[in-house]
Amino acid sequence: MGTKLIVKCPKCANLLLADALQKTRTCPYCDAHVNLQKAQKIASGASAHEASEILKQLKKQKGFT
Ligand SMILES: [Zn+2]
Repeated sequence: MGTKLIVKCPKCANLLLADALQKTRTCPYCDAHVNLQKAQKIASGASAHEASEILKQLKKQKGFT
């Protein structure tokens, strides 16, 4: 349960999945500590499954950065 956010890492621009209740998240790509309040939110999902599906779609889109 819990809303999941898809945010953009300000350092490496990769998309991360984060729990909406979390304040920070460590980027799995570049190890940056991402402040979820300040990070650019791309999308959100009602569940981890939904959010990961959205993330998959976003990554498929050509030209998405
Ligand atoms: Zn990163």
